[in-house]
Amino acid sequence: MNKAPILPPATIGIIGGGQLGQMLAQSAKTMGYHVGILDPIPDCPAAQVSDFQIIAAYDDQVALKKLANKCALLTYEFENVSLIALETLKNDVSLPQGLRLLAITQNRLVEKNFLRANDIPTVPFTEIQATTDLTTVGAYLPGILKTTVGGYDGHGQVDIANTTMITTHAQLYQQAPAILEKRLAFVQEISVMVTQDGLDQVHIWPIAENKHEQHVLKTSLIPAQVSPKVASQVTQIATKLAKKLDLRGVLGVEMFVTADEQVLVNELAPRPHNSGHYSIEAMNVSQFEGHIRSITNLPIAPLKLYQPALMVNLLGEQLTHARNELSHHPEWHFHDYGKAQIRPLRKLGHITVIGTNAINHNKNWLKMDK
Ligand code: ADP
Ligand code: MG
Repeated sequence: MNKAPILPPATIGIIGGGQLGQMLAQSAKTMGYHVGILDPIPDCPAAQVSDFQIIAAYDDQVALKKLANKCALLTYEFENVSLIALETLKNDVSLPQGLRLLAITQNRLVEKNFLRANDIPTVPFTEIQATTDLTTVGAYLPGILKTTVGGYDGHGQVDIANTTMITTHAQLYQQAPAILEKRLAFVQEISVMVTQDGLDQVHIWPIAENKHEQHVLKTSLIPAQVSPKVASQVTQIATKLAKKLDLRGVLGVEMFVTADEQVLVNELAPRPHNSGHYSIEAMNVSQFEGHIRSITNLPIAPLKLYQPALMVNLLGEQLTHARNELSHHPEWHFHDYGKAQIRPLRKLGHITVIGTNAINHNKNWLKMDK
């Protein structure tokens, strides 16, 4: 690709105003860019740290056009952005990540087929629609039925023990096909962030080891404890993805590690990823700065992890609890996204601790079954 850099104080428009948009905006602002946010919620987390907000739905074409006219380039902080709406802006504004990346990652079936077509290992899956002969899907049971569009943090997924249960959840494949994925007995869940910079150099952030609670990410430990065999598969997969996708912006790659040390891709996210938040404090270049540098065609220095890190999500009421503990924990890097509503399991903030001592000191507390 190798295009001319877009320099500060150009204006970057971010579609989506949640915590990823907020941390992207903070990185962009640090570098002297102006930032505008499009989000339906007034004073959303990203708008709190940006220059302006357009309050509108993500697929509001008039609002998108207004944003495009005010910006040198657009990016998005989540994948459920309307492709059709973005296509209409092609001549108005640059979208460095491109529409193809979005088209692949916003549909689980398209994404899985893309991985399969490029010989990137993934969990065995089959397509399910209303017309599917369910007597043929036994090989994928016990499994997980997942919607192909709009799912996140376990929304749109159910555990499936037998074929009768598939019909019970027919609403998941009434509008569009779903996929049935075999339940994998993995030994670890890991992830990496990868990007290509303005010189088309691939950069891969260190491997994170992730633990989930009720399908929602709870903790990431960096660097992950993995063998060289696992690490080399991860590097190969991430590099291949960056090249095959002609990647701009950060891509989050979620993976499973099996007992025999095979790495399988679970899913892709065409944006910074929750498991990369640690990079703000623990690395020379955070995933957010990396994303901004990539989409503005700037170079990125070789990535360096300064210290091991543990990142813990604050879900729902855990935020209130962590706030009350804050005065006892000078070692916490405390992030509160400023969301107006506390809901169970909602991602409201996170804590990062860096350095082995801090990690060990915090491990018990941060289990946080409160
Ligand atoms: P999303 O993150 O979009 O909600 P994922 O497909 O990543 O959806 O699923 C969320 C979590 O559910 C995963 O991180 C993993 O813990 C678990 N999970 C998903 N698919 C499988 C599978 N095939 N086998 C075992 N666990 C799975
Ligand atoms: Mg996931």
